[in-house]
Amino acid sequence: MASDSKHWPKPADAPAMEDLAKCVHCGLCVNACPTYAITGLETESPRGRIFMARAIEEGEIPLTAAVQGHWELCLQCRACEAVCPSGVPYGRIMEHARAQLDASPPTGGGARRMRKLFLRQVVARPRVLAAAIAPVRMLAATPLRPLARRTGVLRWLGRIGAAEAQLPRHIGTPVRPGAALAEPSTVGSTVVLFTGCVMGELFGNAHRATARVLARGGVRAVATLGQACCGALHAHDGDIEFARKLARRNIDGIPGDDPIVVNSAGCGAAMKEYGDLLGNDPAYAARAQAFAARVQDFTEFAANLPEMGGRATLLRVTYQDPCHLAHAQRIREQPRQLLRAAGCELIETAGGDMCCGAAGLYSLVQPEMSAQLRTKKAEQFRKHRPDVIVTANPGCQMQYEAAVREAGLEARVMHIAEFLDEAARPIA
Ligand code: SF4
Ligand code: SF4
Repeated sequence: MASDSKHWPKPADAPAMEDLAKCVHCGLCVNACPTYAITGLETESPRGRIFMARAIEEGEIPLTAAVQGHWELCLQCRACEAVCPSGVPYGRIMEHARAQLDASPPTGGGARRMRKLFLRQVVARPRVLAAAIAPVRMLAATPLRPLARRTGVLRWLGRIGAAEAQLPRHIGTPVRPGAALAEPSTVGSTVVLFTGCVMGELFGNAHRATARVLARGGVRAVATLGQACCGALHAHDGDIEFARKLARRNIDGIPGDDPIVVNSAGCGAAMKEYGDLLGNDPAYAARAQAFAARVQDFTEFAANLPEMGGRATLLRVTYQDPCHLAHAQRIREQPRQLLRAAGCELIETAGGDMCCGAAGLYSLVQPEMSAQLRTKKAEQFRKHRPDVIVTANPGCQMQYEAAVREAGLEARVMHIAEFLDEAARPIA
C-alpha cells in the first residue's frame, strides 16, 4: 500500500492514508505506551506519532529532525496496537514512517547508515555474523568474566560493560540450519525449526531444548537448510526493501507444508506478516500468505501437544510477555498454561507485558530510555524475588539478565523451552 502524498521522501514505502485515517484520536492507547509512561509527553505517545505522520501526509508539517526523533524513540512494541479499538495497524505505520528517515535530511544520518550497513552486511549474512559473534562467545566463556563482574571493573567500560551484563550466563554451541537435533522415539509429525540469526548463534541451548520438548510430544524438529534471517530487525529499522528480500529468501528456502516453529517472538511476528510485506509482489503475494499460515510460535504449537507435566513445584516463576508475542501475535495464555502444567508457582508482576526496553537494537541506539524501562523490570523483580524469570524472545532474555543484576538477585533467566525441558527431565 503506497501513499499518494507528494510530501514523503519515499512515497512508495510511505505510511498509507488508509491506515493513518483509522486513528480517531481517542487516546485509549496512550497509557499502554512505555515511552509515554516514562516521559508523559503526547509527542512520545502512539497518538502523537500517528498525528505527526498524518500531518506530513497532508503537507501540514515537514519531516523535521524533531519528528524523526519522536519516531526513533518508539520501541515498536505494538502495545498501542493491541489495545486500539479502531484497529490502527501501528506496527505497519511505524515501519513505513521509519523507511522515510533514510531519504530525509538526516539527524543521526551517519549512525543510521552504519546501522543499515550492519543489518544488511553482518546480521543477514550467517558466516559474517558467526565471525562477528565469535569474540562475544569467547568473552562469555572466559574464566575472567566472573572476576570482572565481582570486581566491578566492567562498570568502567561504558557500553561494552553494559553489553556484557546482557549476555546469557552460559552460551551453548550454535544451532544453525542443518544442525542435528533431538529425535522423538516415535515420530508423529515433523516441523521446521526456524533457527534465526542471533538466536541461533547465542541461544543454541534454547533451540536444543525446543527440539527436546517437541520430541517428547512425538514431534521431530528439523533445522532445515535454506533458511535466512527473518528480516524483522531490517523492517523495524525502515529497511523494508531488504526485509522483503529476506522474506523471499525464506519462502524459497523453506518449501513444503510442514509447520514452521519459531521460538523467537520477534522473528515469528515478522514471519506471520510476510503476506502483508509482499502483498504487492505478484510473484510472491500468494506464496507469502501460505508461508505465513505455516508459522507458529513454539508456545502456540506446544500448548496443543499432550501435557507433559513437570517437577518445577518448588519454583517461583514469573513470565514476562515479549511484546511481539503478546501484542503482535496476541499470544498470552499458552505460555502461562505450559508453565502451570510444569508445576511451578506462577507470579504475575505489574507491567509484565510492558516492553523491557530491549526491542531489537533499541538498547544500543536509545540506551537511556532502554535503561529506564529495564529499571522498572528490576524493581518488580526485587519486589517479588522470583527464582526464575521466563520469557520467549532472545532480546528480552538479554535485557532480563541485566535487570536481574541491577536488582542484585541470583534469579535465573530462561527461555520458556529451556524451562519446560528442565522441568520435564526425569531426575537422574
Ligand atoms: S491509535 Fe487507536 S487507540 Fe490510539 S488514539 Fe488512535 S484510534 Fe485511539
Ligand atoms: S509501539 Fe510501543 S513505544 Fe511505540 S507508540 Fe506504540 S506503545 Fe508506544
